[in-house]
Amino acid sequence: MSKKPVVGLVPMVNEEKSRCEMPWSYCRALEGAGALPVILPLLTDPADLAQAVSVCSGILLTGGPDVDPARYGEETLPACGQIIPQRDEMEDLLFQAALAADKPVLGICRGVQAMNVALGGTLWQDLPTQVGGPLIHSQSRPYDKTWHKVSVTPGTPLAELLGVEELAVTSRHHQAVKDVAPALKTMAYAPDGVVEAVWMPGKRFVWGVQWHPESVYQTSQASQKLFAAFVNQCR
Ligand code: MN
Repeated sequence: MSKKPVVGLVPMVNEEKSRCEMPWSYCRALEGAGALPVILPLLTDPADLAQAVSVCSGILLTGGPDVDPARYGEETLPACGQIIPQRDEMEDLLFQAALAADKPVLGICRGVQAMNVALGGTLWQDLPTQVGGPLIHSQSRPYDKTWHKVSVTPGTPLAELLGVEELAVTSRHHQAVKDVAPALKTMAYAPDGVVEAVWMPGKRFVWGVQWHPESVYQTSQASQKLFAAFVNQCR
């Protein structure tokens, strides 16, 4: 029997309790898709992170707090949320190491934002105050239900994978990709124009989604297809 691909996950930092944590849903979705999830350490040494990447077949950049606006050359606005500099640094170096090794990367929520910033893009620091409009991107509970639709751009890998032009997604974010990094291409937009999914041409698999496919993994065929596509690239 062939071994399962190991997928490394970026941990959440709980400063109050001095803990690294992992929402179970990420692990369950990866397990469901046939991967072996491994929670990574919050190291910020480039050589350590390159070694961590070398023992993984793929990397999942998880959701979490806001990326420091200084990383994309902006002053922090009052509506910007909690920042964890150690995680910003870890995730940036981890992503660069994964790119250098051409390991598959899936970015979810903060993950797609971190990916965009690492490649020179910018973020909306707070959608309600900076973009406004009727579409609310911070959904109310329950979180395992879809919240708004996105249009999937025809001809993109996401459109090819799902075979749809419209998809209902979860939405638990107050930040989003603003200027898409030069190396990335958009593959889905919310009705208000907010970027909801990107990919990086020229790499085996570097995708980022603003929604939480892991939250609806059990019930959403689209989420199952997304994790399967990622994990299959990790084999
Ligand atoms: Mn959204």
